Amino acid sequence: MITLKNIEKVYQTKSIETVALHNVNLEIPKGEFVSIMGPSGCGKSTLLNIMGLLDEPTNGLVEIDGTPISNYRDKQLARLRNQKLGFVFQSYHLINDLSVLDNVELPLLYRSGTSASETRRLALTALEKVGLSARTKHFPSQLSGGQRQRVAIARALIGQPEIILADEPTGNLDSVMGEEIMNILLNLNRIDGTTIVMVTHDENMAHKTGRLIRFFDGQQVSDAKTATYNFQQ
Ligand code: ADP
Ligand code: ADP
Repeated sequence: MITLKNIEKVYQTKSIETVALHNVNLEIPKGEFVSIMGPSGCGKSTLLNIMGLLDEPTNGLVEIDGTPISNYRDKQLARLRNQKLGFVFQSYHLINDLSVLDNVELPLLYRSGTSASETRRLALTALEKVGLSARTKHFPSQLSGGQRQRVAIARALIGQPEIILADEPTGNLDSVMGEEIMNILLNLNRIDGTTIVMVTHDENMAHKTGRLIRFFDGQQVSDAKTATYNFQQ
């Protein structure tokens, strides 16, 4: 589904060169739930941004469903992102003066061909999936952190993504709300078969997923199936 081949990412700021990723080779098959762990600055966000087609590697190849995307123009990348990917961030990135329902509908407003009533139906379905049907008219400031993250997940779901990329989705939440978010992600993976790549600092969360990849200094240092997870297929 996502394949990274010999990925190198170097940031150049004035005279300072930072190697954020070095020689990263990774395959994320359809249906997996993968955790990425590692200390701050080891390249996790850079990796997720490259997988999410938000950033380009300095060297190496990104393939989506077996097709290299290095020659894609911005417009093609945006379309691919829209069709296949959903993003969830630590800090939710909701728009504070839009209602829950309007926040969730937002990604479809940029997609032509979906009517207002169909957009509404998809938003309500996504909110039902995250258990927030009773909060559609609320504003983000009226919700708990866990509820805000559920809105953000619903917003990611409205495009019916094949892959969800989540950057520390439980990082700002207490353990109870973190568990709730984790259970939603686990169900999306198990029931809907959505592929998920999640960056986390939490060993407990990571061990609930199917595969744990550890990074250090821009390189993979381990990659193993976790013992506890039952894959669907
Ligand atoms: P992590 O998510 O694991 O904390 P990042 O991917 O954010 O790591 O960063 C990896 C390395 O790249 C760090 O040394 C960071 O300072 C550097 N870095 C990240 N983004 C940029 C940028 N836009 N410009 C320059 N250096 C950056
Ligand atoms: P933090 O909460 O630690 O500031 P986030 O998890 O919110 O970080 O964001 C992770 C990365 O994704 C950042 O590099 C940020 O620039 C990028 N990002 C955040 N929001 C969006 C967005 N809506 N679309 C694309 N990229 C985003």
